[in-house]
Amino acid sequence: MNLILFGPPGAGKGTQAKRLVEQRGMVQLSTGDMLRAAIASGSELGLKVKDVLDRGDLVTDEIVIALIEERLPEAEAAGGAIFDGFPRTVAQAEALDVMLAKRGQKIDSVVRLEVDEPALIERITKRYAEQGRSDDNPETFVNRLARYNADTAPLLPYYRAQDKLVAVDGMGTVEAVAGAIDTALSVVA
Ligand code: AMP
Repeated sequence: MNLILFGPPGAGKGTQAKRLVEQRGMVQLSTGDMLRAAIASGSELGLKVKDVLDRGDLVTDEIVIALIEERLPEAEAAGGAIFDGFPRTVAQAEALDVMLAKRGQKIDSVVRLEVDEPALIERITKRYAEQGRSDDNPETFVNRLARYNADTAPLLPYYRAQDKLVAVDGMGTVEAVAGAIDTALSVVA
């Protein structure tokens, strides 16, 4: 099964993806984690994308599509992928559909975590204080939210048209949200 965890920054995608990995043995494919690892390693890619992440902008479709493509065989071997933070543009979603189709696969479900903006800001303010992730600082976070609304939210009609979108209330505790995701997925496969 291939899933997309969808939602704005701070919605809880990473937390829920990690739990699904533990429970179902799937592979989490987080382009944000991959890009942060590239930056930490000082690779050519890392140097290229560092300023983009620091500003809260999106890196090019080409870069993230290539990162995902590289990891698809591993996800397939594990029985499926949980896409976290990818796709973020319609072009990425279209490329993902093509890459999966070439492998005889598809996206089975897109789980949308719904969290309102005041709650997102509260969560990210807390995460910034606790973890100091540089792109969680207030100015950058506002830009990340703007990018989500402008570039990523248009994916909702894309997946609604494919009848793959499932809404989950993301405002509760980690456990409550996990339960709601499990219920939503129980009808998928
Ligand atoms: P995340 O950890 O998913 O919030 O991603 C952190 C940052 O990495 C984002 O603010 C973007 O700068 C970049 N990024 C991650 N995934 C993508 C993507 N699919 N497309 C473009 N940029 C991305």
